[in-house]
Amino acid sequence: MNPRIALIAHDKKKDDMIALATEYAAFLKQCTLVATGTTGGRLANEVGLTVDRKHSGPFGGDLQIGSLLVEGLIDAVIFLRDPMTPQPHEPDINALVRACDVHNVACATNLSSAHLVLSQLQSNAAQ
Ligand code: PGA
Repeated sequence: MNPRIALIAHDKKKDDMIALATEYAAFLKQCTLVATGTTGGRLANEVGLTVDRKHSGPFGGDLQIGSLLVEGLIDAVIFLRDPMTPQPHEPDINALVRACDVHNVACATNLSSAHLVLSQLQSNAAQ
């Protein structure tokens, strides 16, 4: 089964997410994707991906994705966080990353690790 991947990017990281998703678009089109609201909208409009869009992060989207993850419905999280800007929903962000650790789900929080996770998942899917 192709992986179920969650995609989230803070505002200053959304352009990075679009560039990343464009690079991996052929692979991501084979995956089941879920994203927070604004990130998901951009991925759909600018990259042409089919994405299950949850609420925007500050309105609970991270928690919705965390809930799916706890239920075993997410295989990897690409979460491009902005470490330089305070976020109003910091507790939700921490809850999602903690849920990844509790359930041993891969969680890439910067571009370098996102490339490693996506390239590995892509090569697993090709085998
Ligand atoms: P967004 O949410 O994709 O709706 O902007 C991301 C976030 O800020 O957590």
